[in-house]
Amino acid sequence: MRFEDLNLSNEILRAIADMGFEEPSPIQAQAIPYILKGEDVIGQAQTGTGKTASFGIPILEMVNPNENSLQALVLCPTRELAIQVSEELRKLSKYKHSVKILPIYGGQPIERQIKALKKGIQIVIGTPGRVIDHINRRTLKMENVKMVILDEADEMLDMGFREDIESILEKTSKERQTIFFSATMPKEILDLTKKYQNNPQLVKVVRKELTVPNIEQFYLEVKEKSKLEVLSRLIDMYNPKLSVVFCNTKKRVDELVGNLQARGYFADGLHGDMKQAQRDNVMAKFRNVTVEILVATDVAARGLDIDDVEAVFNYDMPQDEEYYVHRIGRTGRAGKTGRAFTFVVGREIYKLKDIQRYTKTKVKLHQIPSISDIEEI
Ligand code: ADP
Ligand code: MG
Repeated sequence: MRFEDLNLSNEILRAIADMGFEEPSPIQAQAIPYILKGEDVIGQAQTGTGKTASFGIPILEMVNPNENSLQALVLCPTRELAIQVSEELRKLSKYKHSVKILPIYGGQPIERQIKALKKGIQIVIGTPGRVIDHINRRTLKMENVKMVILDEADEMLDMGFREDIESILEKTSKERQTIFFSATMPKEILDLTKKYQNNPQLVKVVRKELTVPNIEQFYLEVKEKSKLEVLSRLIDMYNPKLSVVFCNTKKRVDELVGNLQARGYFADGLHGDMKQAQRDNVMAKFRNVTVEILVATDVAARGLDIDDVEAVFNYDMPQDEEYYVHRIGRTGRAGKTGRAFTFVVGREIYKLKDIQRYTKTKVKLHQIPSISDIEEI
């Protein structure tokens, strides 16, 4: 299958070529034709499989650039993701200059967004809370919305956005096309599907294992008080270009950032208590590799797609199996290889067993690197 076989415009084909995409990923090959036909779709695929372009390409093909009203709405769980999706859409629209795309998310001054919306935006990528806010202010008008996309639908539900999502969907026309993308398909999503989709096409690209095969997965048996030392040794040993380290609370993120910086690492943190400008700043530094180690909570790191993340560390054991899959999916993106390390303290080994059962993969025991291992490198 080639992109040329998908009935796309020359503008889109050129943009795809500029982005270096050689062929459609399986989810793209399957979902794009249905979406272009106007059908409702549920797309299920692992992280890093190209779900963004699966809806981004058809949106750009279907939006009418001569109609100055909101036509497509993409809902995402976090501000970082809204920005990321909007950047990908901008790249895809490189030769469709007249299409206007805007991310709207909480934390950014609403006045700036209102001003930008007045320019006649056709595609909005937003977080549910801020979208509702704009709908209530009548700065976002839903009458002409023809497509609604829920990206990372499972994440949005986990984060408690169900009511917001439903109230947004209620405000759009029943004739709309409704598209869900999700890595997992819990019952709550199926409920939403029944309520808001019309004969949806299920497009499913799931391998036997839920995790991506080009991620090597390890665990280390550690004591709580030795975690910092073990993390430092692993980083020194493997020297990953970029790493993401997950902690379970904001406080632990802040503490670990301080400790890593004190040891001379280029580390910074990302969590929900930080101001938006701070978060943007950290992400920009991580992208340009001024920050090499991003320490984050789950919420802050949802869906982050950054090339060259070569290692993910579960400094704290993830709360459940799905979080594990999302966390380690930050590495091994777009066919690259990555390593994931999970720290296991005492009885947490049972949680790891659950994770292995859920993901149907084996996580290998990794010895704690000794100082001599590191010095030999
Ligand atoms: P997902 O939403 O499924 O986690 P993304 O849409 O974020 O995945 O895509 C992951 C990465 O793969 C991005 O960097 C994206 O630009 C890239 N990508 C998407 N489609 C293709 C393709 N057909 N060929 C090569 N790279 C692709
Ligand atoms: Mg995605």
